[in-house]
Amino acid sequence: MIVTDYHVHTARCGHAGGATRDYVLHGLSRGLTEIAITDHVPLYFLPGEDPEPGLAMVRGELPGYVEEVLALREEFRGRIDVLLGIEADYAEGYEETLRALLAPYDWDVVLGSVHFVAGDWIDAPSSGSRHEKEGSAHLWAEYFRLLAKAAASGLFDVMTHFDLPKKFGHHSPPECAAAEAAAVEAARVAGVAIEVSSAGLRKTVGEEYPGPRLLARLVAAGVPLVFSSDSHAPAEVAWGREQVVSAARAAGATEHVTFRKRIRTAHPL
Ligand SMILES: [Zn+2]
Ligand SMILES: [Zn+2]
Repeated sequence: MIVTDYHVHTARCGHAGGATRDYVLHGLSRGLTEIAITDHVPLYFLPGEDPEPGLAMVRGELPGYVEEVLALREEFRGRIDVLLGIEADYAEGYEETLRALLAPYDWDVVLGSVHFVAGDWIDAPSSGSRHEKEGSAHLWAEYFRLLAKAAASGLFDVMTHFDLPKKFGHHSPPECAAAEAAAVEAARVAGVAIEVSSAGLRKTVGEEYPGPRLLARLVAAGVPLVFSSDSHAPAEVAWGREQVVSAARAAGATEHVTFRKRIRTAHPL
């Protein structure tokens, strides 16, 4: 049986702790057969070498990150497959900058994330108040618009936390149904996968990303799934795995997928 966690950070991002090796060891102890290390890409769309040291690795750290993950792959060969991944922000208008940044490396999987919406972060500790100040419908519609563009960009293999703006409890309002439908359709047409992530269970909202209704919709559209924890500490690896697998089954999924060198393979669930 193939047991995976496809979204794992390292201390380089500035808001995760522990040695990368310990994330792999914890994954082994939880029965994973593969783990994708997917730290935050340098914030290529913001000015300066190190615009937000607490949010992502700096540009100069990328080669060392890749080296470390590849060394872990060798060390753990035969025990657990360690995949070279990255969580890359989507930034409208900077698609070619990201493409060039990712090009030198032989990624197994590139996660695509929309964290920056309408000029600011959508998931920072202070982002909850944006829903009152700027209007929840506006933020959700803009989020889904960017997510659809990200899916269509060809830059990513897996779209992460598909309903991230709900993090602090602000669910997508009915007037954003068309924007949501367009994002689901964009994922289907682009042939990208999505993650079913336990991270939302650890947040104010208290449900997986994506929630049950949206997940069922994505599964019905034929969008493939990976499972993830979005770990920021070794002990979070494979956290909530039973819940995300149950959520996928409840949504009608019968398969999950894995990636090697960005090529997808389906496995029965
Ligand atoms: Zn993220
Ligand atoms: Zn993440």
